[in-house]
Amino acid sequence: MAKKSKKGPRQKTGLKCSDCGAFGYVTKFNKNNEQLKKQTDGEGTFPLNKYCKKCMKHTSHKVMKKLK
Ligand SMILES: [Zn+2]
Repeated sequence: MAKKSKKGPRQKTGLKCSDCGAFGYVTKFNKNNEQLKKQTDGEGTFPLNKYCKKCMKHTSHKVMKKLK
């Protein structure tokens, strides 16, 4: 099962601070993850607590549309 595939289940996603709106992180998450699927099903976002450099504190971050 060590097959090379260009399009894996993991997709790059941006995380945006919901406080100041600054683009904070690029993360990868597995789109096959059922829990994430459920969470992203509604508005396409789910809050994640991440440190925002701009706010200099932990804020909830929202997932942006997948990056290219
Ligand atoms: Zn912020």
